[in-house]
Amino acid sequence: MEKRELLYEGKAKKLFTTDDENLLISEFKDDLTAFNGAKKSSEAGKGALNNKISTELFNLLEECGIQTHFVKMLDDNNMLHKRTKVILIEVIVRNIATGSLSKNLGIKDGTVLPFTLVEFDYKNDALGDPKLNDQHALILGLVDYQDELDKLRRLARQVNDILKPYFASKGLNLVDFKLEFGKDSSGNIILIDEISPDNCRFWDMTSGEKMDKDRFRQGLGGLRVAYEQVLNRILGK
Ligand code: 5GP
Repeated sequence: MEKRELLYEGKAKKLFTTDDENLLISEFKDDLTAFNGAKKSSEAGKGALNNKISTELFNLLEECGIQTHFVKMLDDNNMLHKRTKVILIEVIVRNIATGSLSKNLGIKDGTVLPFTLVEFDYKNDALGDPKLNDQHALILGLVDYQDELDKLRRLARQVNDILKPYFASKGLNLVDFKLEFGKDSSGNIILIDEISPDNCRFWDMTSGEKMDKDRFRQGLGGLRVAYEQVLNRILGK
């Protein structure tokens, strides 16, 4: 499958059309951005690691019955996937308080939450991805029905119920993550985008070490090594 036109260039991926109108290719870039684009860098090999990690996790989720846009990994940096109409809601799932949850609500960093929290952010860079409640999402027309919001929450919890024990078995705490969803050509809501240390937080269960994009956000260094370790643990190496 060949790339045709560049459809869109995002912060971490380029999106290309193919000769099949229902399929697109995502090219995973080495670029890193944080704080709404205020902090930028690049890490050689990061895109390929995220492509491989996402491929493994999409395969795992598909095996567990979650519908995703994933078709196949084409090469180091390119993934073939279904075309969907993107739902402009970032679905955030949290098991442990950190990041914006700790900052906004003063919950002590590292607090294990009494139950899994699912939040919605508006996927809108110009507005800085603000928090949404269900009524905001419906007023903005991000989905048509309340049922669809309920489905996003249900799917996000199912993904967490699969990934949290999976990563625990690899010695990693799945702290939180961001999912995106789209509607396929039949109108089904399916999981899209990527699942990688760029949009998940992983803490080593023994050392507490951060193994995700916080290494860049917080200037800790060693991002590539951490991402490689996440991939190696997934692969059982
Ligand atoms: P927080 O809201 O604490 O900044 O992020 C919560 C989780 O969602 C983290 O795992 C973070 O990586 C992910 N996340 C939230 N918003 C974004 C975003 O705009 N881009 C990416 N890559 N991840 C995000």
